[in-house]
Amino acid sequence: MSRQNDIRDFDGLVAIVTGGASGIGAAIADELRARGAKVAALDLDPSSVPADEQTLAVRCDVGDDASVRAAISEVVATWGGLDVVVNNAGIGAQGTVADNPDDEWARVLDANVVGMARVARAALPHLRRSEHAAIVNTGSIAATAGLPDRVLYSASKGAVHAMTRAMAADHIREGIRVNAVSPGTADTPWIGRLLDRADDPAAERAALNARQPHGRLVSADEVAGAVAYLASPLSGSTTGVALAVDGGMQNLRLRPL
Ligand code: NAD
Repeated sequence: MSRQNDIRDFDGLVAIVTGGASGIGAAIADELRARGAKVAALDLDPSSVPADEQTLAVRCDVGDDASVRAAISEVVATWGGLDVVVNNAGIGAQGTVADNPDDEWARVLDANVVGMARVARAALPHLRRSEHAAIVNTGSIAATAGLPDRVLYSASKGAVHAMTRAMAADHIREGIRVNAVSPGTADTPWIGRLLDRADDPAAERAALNARQPHGRLVSADEVAGAVAYLASPLSGSTTGVALAVDGGMQNLRLRPL
């Protein structure tokens, strides 16, 4: 909230950020606010969202269509329109195909994929009236790398990347751009919770840092910067991409093959 920014490319624009109360979503909300946007954080638990005239905290479950439609109606009723949708809420899932029954597939795909479609569907009538309409979906390195023990999460994020490209094609003629960010392992409460399960969380964190090409985790602020670029009028000719924010993990080979 205290952040100052010389780039005011979101002055006069209204944004929603799902999962905007924690981690990457909270950093995105901060970044868009610093650039001048009015930001609504839609979250299952919005109690940590700051209260000020540039911010709206909305309790919302992206898994529930009525909840999503009510949240977007509240944002539009409050600020008169909607320009930017950041579909960031998502949940993790572990295991192989052998471990996950049908209802677990349904639960995770609903939260991570259908949730983004639900939010976009409710937002589209408002985005069509915006001069600077943009949707940014939070994908993942799990969409592009074959990660062990993450089959369900990987499938859900692969769907997010594919959905991003298809939506970009569907809506470019309406002036609505659709892009994704594809973070590597980012330092958020989510990763903190995973590390806390290790016998030695500090050693586990050091090992995780060492596995990254740039020797450290991605920061939530770095993901937020990429989202801001993709949502900004400054990227007006960019649509259908998944921008990797991962220290090079998805695109570099540090040793010869
Ligand atoms: P986080 O757990 O810190 O924050 C997630 C937020 O989403 C929480 O505030 C939670 O309440 C909210 N949320 C969860 N389900 C919701 C629902 N059904 N409706 C509304 N809100 C809901 O997690 P994070 O690490 O900041 O992850 C955010 C996004 O980034 C997720 O889509 C995740 O898949 C993606 N991602 C994270 C990493 C990483 O390493 N942290 C890497 C790649 C992608």
